[in-house]
Amino acid sequence: MDIKNGFVDTVGNTPLIRLNSFSDETGCEILGKAEFLNPGGSVKDRAALYIVEDAEKKGLLKPGGTVVEGTAGNTGIGLTHICNAKGYKCLIVIPETQSQEKIDTLRTLGAEVRTIPAVPYKNPENYVKVSGRLAAELDNAIWANQFDNLANRNAHYETTGEEIWQQTDGKVDAWVAATGTGGTYAGVALCLKEKNPDIRCIVADPMGSGLYSYVKIGEIKPEGKSITEGIGNSRITANMEDVPIDDAIQIDDPECLRVIYQLLRKDGLFMGGSVGINVGAAYALAKQLGAGHTIVTVLCDSGSRYQSRIYNPQWLAEKGLSVG
Ligand code: PMP
Repeated sequence: MDIKNGFVDTVGNTPLIRLNSFSDETGCEILGKAEFLNPGGSVKDRAALYIVEDAEKKGLLKPGGTVVEGTAGNTGIGLTHICNAKGYKCLIVIPETQSQEKIDTLRTLGAEVRTIPAVPYKNPENYVKVSGRLAAELDNAIWANQFDNLANRNAHYETTGEEIWQQTDGKVDAWVAATGTGGTYAGVALCLKEKNPDIRCIVADPMGSGLYSYVKIGEIKPEGKSITEGIGNSRITANMEDVPIDDAIQIDDPECLRVIYQLLRKDGLFMGGSVGINVGAAYALAKQLGAGHTIVTVLCDSGSRYQSRIYNPQWLAEKGLSVG
């Protein structure tokens, strides 16, 4: 018998998929960790589960308690599923700039959702800070604090990284991923470097994020903006502290769109925008390294969360973008 014990037991152990069109084009093996196949539909199910179970183990989260979080959507979706499965309530603060699909999904799942204006992190009304204050005000509540809670990257150190190592029999030349909290990038980078320090760990960065300049010139200097959601940062989160970064690759929106539409049309994979940054950077790295290398990246979530946006020609046209 091979039976999973509910939602929680179904998180992780995702397939590693050869991205055929990009691999064939470059002569490299470009592999995507299929995190969109997690039961809550994204890479953030893993972090959500570890954060909740860490709080349970520490005695911080008690029966009937509330998990509060500021999220671009996917962490909130993962947390709400887990809270439902474990008997907790979930209160989510989300910037109103995020896709309607994610906001609607959160409400459908049963989270209490507060949408607020998107303002920079240094502003006290930033969604992350608002969620922290709400958690402090409520009785029997915890703040998931995914950006600075190391349970997030531990999830990826203990599971995602280990799975990638097993699934490739250790034959990995490079790991490439964009960062939101940095939990995915950091946990996998720490795990893989421990196994083999020669594995190159590369941050993929959208326009408008400060990590590319941080890696290249040691300064956080965001420039431009991006249609992607859930990635990019203007600070080094606790999850990204003391984490190896060998290089960074910046991917702009036109290249991101080219990549996600190629994934859809040639590989049959319907992916979210951050995947365009990840696979775009993996493809650029394949060209840099030359044929014969194995590059692993992450397929964070599905395109169905962005149908009204990056898969909507009218929305793209309003942003001055189009798909060839
Ligand atoms: N892609 C998407 C669509 C996301 O929602 C997130 C998380 N915000 C990420 C990538 C980045 O993951 P992490 O927080 O682990 O850096």
